[in-house]
Amino acid sequence: PGTLHVVATPIGNLGDLSSRGLDTLRNVAAICAEDTRHTRQLLSHFGLERPLVALHEHNEDQIAERVVARLLAGESLALVSDAGTPLVSDPGFRLVRAARAAGVPVSPVPGACAFVAALSVAGLPSDRLVFEGFLPAKGNARRERLAPLAAEIRTLAFYESAHRIEETLADMAAIFGAERRAVVARELTKLFETVLDGTLADLHARVSADANQRKGEFVVLVQGAGDDEQARIAEGKRLYAKLGEHLP
Ligand code: SAM
Repeated sequence: PGTLHVVATPIGNLGDLSSRGLDTLRNVAAICAEDTRHTRQLLSHFGLERPLVALHEHNEDQIAERVVARLLAGESLALVSDAGTPLVSDPGFRLVRAARAAGVPVSPVPGACAFVAALSVAGLPSDRLVFEGFLPAKGNARRERLAPLAAEIRTLAFYESAHRIEETLADMAAIFGAERRAVVARELTKLFETVLDGTLADLHARVSADANQRKGEFVVLVQGAGDDEQARIAEGKRLYAKLGEHLP
């Protein structure tokens, strides 16, 4: 069979496409892309033109079948998403799974990934990390997702959009504690790149006060719960259990 090359593309700055990524895209029979118009633009910036296959959440199973048939017939293909590393809060998981199940080699061409880029400049503990991707859009569902993370000791990573960054920081301050340290990384590798660090209350205040700080794309990193928070949560659970003993 051919090889399915999973190629990371830039998250903003086009200089971040690796030379191996470029070579790979130049040499494959076709490129599976999340948004073909978007990828066509990227390719044209590098003077490339390749056949594109649209692969998004809604048709991925169907397309995967056809793509795997081409790979089995000996063609090599690439998979890209609109930005960064495919499969990371992006389509591709089903295609990769199908290719592997069919015995097709799947090979990465690594590169940009927004939460890794944010982690690399955040100055938060980086030895252990939980990537949570996007939170639910609706307030209640979002808070339900955040609540069980309050006791997590590892650093937490989230993706967020301009519409919700302010609300999300408010919810995080309420649920994780106003004093918990965090970093808001905005527009990484782009013209208006900003990395703000501080407590959640402080970050919420700064983002609320300045509309420019609510524009673009965001990674939010939150430091894990410390020993004192762990103790507070454990004590809460103990009291709750004790209370339960006294209830009918
Ligand atoms: N596959 C991508 C990756 O490897 O990071 C992520 C794709 S996901 C659909 C897009 C989200 O990633 C954005 O909403 C934002 O939260 C984050 N993101 C992407 N580019 C970014 C950038 N330049 N700066 C900050 N966050 C970014």
